[in-house]
Amino acid sequence: MSDSFDFVVVGSGGGSMCAALVLRAAGKSVLVLEKTDLVGGTTAISGGVMWIPNNRFMKSEGLQDSPEQAIAYMDAVVGDHDDTPGASRARRLAYVEEAPAMIDFLVSQGIQLRRIPSWPDYCNAPGQSVPGRTVVSQLFDINQLGEWKSRLRPGFLPLPANLDEAMELPNFKRSWTGKKVLARVIGRTIVSKLRGKHLTTAGQALQGQMLHAAIRAGVEIRTGAGVKRLLLEGGRVTGVVIEKDSAEQHITARSGVLVNAGGFARNQRMVERYIPGTSTQWSLTGPGDTGEMIEEAARLGAATAQMDERIGNPMALPPGETPAQPVVVHGDLAKPHSIVVDQAGARYMRESNSYVAVGQAMLKHNRQAPAIPSWLVMDSRYLDTYMLAGSMPGRKKPKTWYEEGFLKQADTLEALAAACGMEPATLRTSVERFNGFVRGGHDGDFHRGDHAYDRWLGDPLSQQSPTLGTLEQGPFFAIRVYPGDVSTLGGLVTDEHARVLREDGSAIPGLYATGTSAASVMGRGCPGAGASIGPSFTWGYVAAKHAVQADQ
Ligand SMILES: Cc1cc2nc3c(=O)[nH]c(=O)nc-3n(C[C@H](O)[C@H](O)[C@H](O)COP(=O)(O)OP(=O)(O)OC[C@H]3O[C@@H](n4cnc5c(N)ncnc54)[C@H](O)[C@@H]3O)c2cc1C
Repeated sequence: MSDSFDFVVVGSGGGSMCAALVLRAAGKSVLVLEKTDLVGGTTAISGGVMWIPNNRFMKSEGLQDSPEQAIAYMDAVVGDHDDTPGASRARRLAYVEEAPAMIDFLVSQGIQLRRIPSWPDYCNAPGQSVPGRTVVSQLFDINQLGEWKSRLRPGFLPLPANLDEAMELPNFKRSWTGKKVLARVIGRTIVSKLRGKHLTTAGQALQGQMLHAAIRAGVEIRTGAGVKRLLLEGGRVTGVVIEKDSAEQHITARSGVLVNAGGFARNQRMVERYIPGTSTQWSLTGPGDTGEMIEEAARLGAATAQMDERIGNPMALPPGETPAQPVVVHGDLAKPHSIVVDQAGARYMRESNSYVAVGQAMLKHNRQAPAIPSWLVMDSRYLDTYMLAGSMPGRKKPKTWYEEGFLKQADTLEALAAACGMEPATLRTSVERFNGFVRGGHDGDFHRGDHAYDRWLGDPLSQQSPTLGTLEQGPFFAIRVYPGDVSTLGGLVTDEHARVLREDGSAIPGLYATGTSAASVMGRGCPGAGASIGPSFTWGYVAAKHAVQADQ
């Protein structure tokens, strides 16, 4: 086994194998080192959605987009700020150019992708795409991975259903589309099993395809190989040190090292330091998201930024496992007949906003009034119609939900407030004010429902409004909502070539970073679905191209 490679990638995150494929295409030797026993990182767990402006799938469907439109949108949503160097204009421009080129490259490597027919950009701003700019993996048969199959990190959706199909499934009792989708997914499950396939979806399918392509291309991948240190010689990063079987091993990287080792959402010390008020217990990131590579590069003089940024996502903690496993409730918050209130019972946010914005709103409000956790308050029509914390519609929920106080229920709003420790009069006022807005057809306080994204996230089958519905039919219900996350977004400052920069703006030769190890090109904004994985793949692609060119 050679311990000297042209290029070493630390972590098997989103951009890692994309970079590796570029380097292999240029004839370079590549080693991917993964700390855990499983390949794929949080990317494999995720939806696998990539936000790619002006992508080939939009073009082939005749959907309007252009680099100018995309940069106008990024300028409006992300913008220039002194404290977000990861989102510099040079990087935004590079992103708009390179992201669609990266997708073309993946397709040329045999990766099968598609776009989701409708996933609006999150913000009403110039250049917004309402059909959306998302690119995802086609379903992938992981049996093709052979012995590597058991070393791919499992995804969050154990069904052979595309994401857009999965979003229809909860409606199977209420719509013909839902019924058709259910029949299609059941049929696919049976046929694929009969044919000896193990179809996967979302992030697992994406990372499964990438792993498959990387193995075929001759990329060397080692698991259980956590990088402890970066090697620095004459001011240049020349390799890494790993610990394997309690022994240190040095590995040389002639053309460079790419850090794609995730963020620090699983590191309580770092979370407390940079994002106070949050907890690793509410994170859905993979176990390797512990931030040591950000600290290691910083030790060598790398600048860090945007460390307080994260992809927040509202979570519930249903009983069942210890410690409780967080469940994403973002879509739940946007459904009619519900509101989110703080611990006093006061409404304070646009519940149907993006998960990032909802998380930011909770943390911000908590600085003025206790709002962690907040409460999702619902009336009985909500329970009868919508999924709640991963459970199917209906009041029949696991017994422990009621017994252990996860799901509070009461005949009146006042009794519900008392059961949750809220002020009854405050909750009553919040609900009556919201009901008034619903009857008037407009949320005068927080503009819930004014955005294309809100209406998409809500209930398209609702007669009155996709997201506005009164809370008046008891019994009433409530669950606690926490400001969880699916990633941190701050890290190493990089330039438009993905080179890691020092505080003075100079590049550290030989060192690149991508994904959540780097300060995000999205700054403090969130333009649309896929704003983490799209950049992770893209900067991996950019870094690899730069390393190849620098060698010539
Ligand atoms: C349920 C869920 C759904 C999501 N959906 C989406 C989505 O659809 N689109 C989107 O953009 N974002 C989504 N996210 C967020 C997104 O998944 C992450 O932000 C993204 O995958 C992070 O990717 P990455 O490239 O930074 O690295 P990761 O995928 O996190 O991988 C980093 C890898 O590096 C390894 N590592 C860490 N330290 C070391 C070390 N010292 N040595 C070697 N290896 C190391 C880790 O073990 C890990 O395997 C979702 C997240 C979750 C949890």
